[in-house]
Amino acid sequence: MSRWLNRVIGRVTMYRLVLLVLVAIAAAAVALSLVGALAFPVRDLLATGVVAVGASYLTSRVFALAFRTKPHPESSLITGLLLFFLFYPSTAASDLASVALAATIASSSKYLFAVRARHIFNPAAIGALAVSLLQLNAAVWWVATGALLPLTAIGAFLVLYRSRRLAVGVTFVVIAAVIGAARIAALGTDPIAALASALTSFPLVFLAGFMLSEPLTLPPRRWQQLTVAALVAVLFSVPFQLGPVFSSPELALVAGNAVAFAFGQRRGIRLDYLGKRRLTPTAWELAFAPHAPVGFRPGQYLELTVPHRADFRGMRRTFSISSAPAPEGPITVAMTVPDRSSSFKRALLELEPGTRVTATGIGGDFTLPTDATVPLLLVAGGIGITPFASQLAHLAASGEPRDVVVVYAVRDTAELGYAELLESSGARVVLVSRERPAALPANWEWAGIRLTGDLLREAVPDLARRRAYVSGSPGFVSDIRNALKRSGVRRILTDSFSGY
Ligand SMILES: Cc1cc2nc3c(=O)[nH]c(=O)nc-3n(C[C@H](O)[C@H](O)[C@H](O)COP(=O)(O)OP(=O)(O)OC[C@H]3O[C@@H](n4cnc5c(N)ncnc54)[C@H](O)[C@@H]3O)c2cc1C
Repeated sequence: MSRWLNRVIGRVTMYRLVLLVLVAIAAAAVALSLVGALAFPVRDLLATGVVAVGASYLTSRVFALAFRTKPHPESSLITGLLLFFLFYPSTAASDLASVALAATIASSSKYLFAVRARHIFNPAAIGALAVSLLQLNAAVWWVATGALLPLTAIGAFLVLYRSRRLAVGVTFVVIAAVIGAARIAALGTDPIAALASALTSFPLVFLAGFMLSEPLTLPPRRWQQLTVAALVAVLFSVPFQLGPVFSSPELALVAGNAVAFAFGQRRGIRLDYLGKRRLTPTAWELAFAPHAPVGFRPGQYLELTVPHRADFRGMRRTFSISSAPAPEGPITVAMTVPDRSSSFKRALLELEPGTRVTATGIGGDFTLPTDATVPLLLVAGGIGITPFASQLAHLAASGEPRDVVVVYAVRDTAELGYAELLESSGARVVLVSRERPAALPANWEWAGIRLTGDLLREAVPDLARRRAYVSGSPGFVSDIRNALKRSGVRRILTDSFSGY
């Protein structure tokens, strides 16, 4: 099931997935209105929707022109749709004008409240908040209705699953639902009915799935993301007033964004492209010189933005950093390039040395334990070797002895990337490939043609006492994680390269 899900939703980018889900919810709202299951007339829904989406799309183009950047049409359509679900549907000119203003403020916030190519606040939330502070309109979050909840919940699950932020979404929903239900129950309602009421009348699931999950406004580490989720949940569900400002979901989210920003490390990183080298017949390594020293831990990833005429997969991609941290050194990433590749990868490979690109953040928790006595098992499927390349290079540079076994599964031996680095790291390497190589370095052994639980147990008899790290395509990662669990491995960290 998880393999199938990964394959299906891994085909589209996060932005495309959110857009598709929001369009589906909007279509469902219109259909429900037509059959009388939603109180708003179709013409009010359509008028507000067209104004919100149209204003967001047009103003984002204007701001992109003014700030001489490429517009991001999908992001503007998402912002417009989010605003559509927030404001009371109406055909009144003043209401529509305030929705258009909210969309304009949302678009402007991507540039005005931004630090190095990265906006600080959720644009839709800041647009809605500004319009309500100006007392021109108030976001009612009409999307929070029982009739739309099943579709909203499925969509939110897909988005959070795809972005690996289920824990963040669940943390928010559980805390906000419990507090919300307790408040309703305190008025004398039965607790189960109070919980149902909290879930259907507050926009918990919608906010968790499509707004809190926005990658650019989340902090980089998992614990920081969970802290922000918990904070937004409390501010969301406990009413308060600060002078003329009343609590609201959009205020809770904006406050959470500010805390996320304070966690730091989310600034856009300017990189000069240095050049590329072939890693294997199907993979390239690309090197970049950062303008200022970049702090990262081996095993973390960065998100690269390459402006170009993008196909439906968009202008951004996440890649694990394959180089070790070095104050003055270049940063490298490595990627496979299939015959029929995305426009992003083609544009990346065509970059001229010296071209400036931005990375919009470094993050991830796929990092080695600080306790050097923990024995490790690093399992890579193909290009999944990249975070391990960084970690092994770092260990070699620091001279820190660790007990490491690398299991490296590749289609054939020509596809072995970073072989020299693995060899010089001194780690024991268990190779799994279609054919047995004629010769292997001293600390390497060939274990078979297919990586299975049996092969793992045989090749690494003490695997149950090791902390395991698994990296590669989502299908590979879920298969190996299951095999390791069945073999008694208790601590398993995974880095799932969604997109393959
Ligand atoms: C935490 C994390 C770390 C990652 N680290 C790495 C890493 O270190 N190295 C790495 O290579 N990847 C990594 N990835 C995956 C990476 O982000 C991309 O998702 C992946 O490389 C796929 O890239 P792509 O979308 O450019 O498609 P491609 O790799 O170009 O293509 C993938 C498949 O989609 C098909 N396809 C591509 N474009 C189109 C199109 N327009 N229409 C139809 N079909 C198309 C191709 O034919 C191919 O079958 C990581 C992902 C995550 C989440």
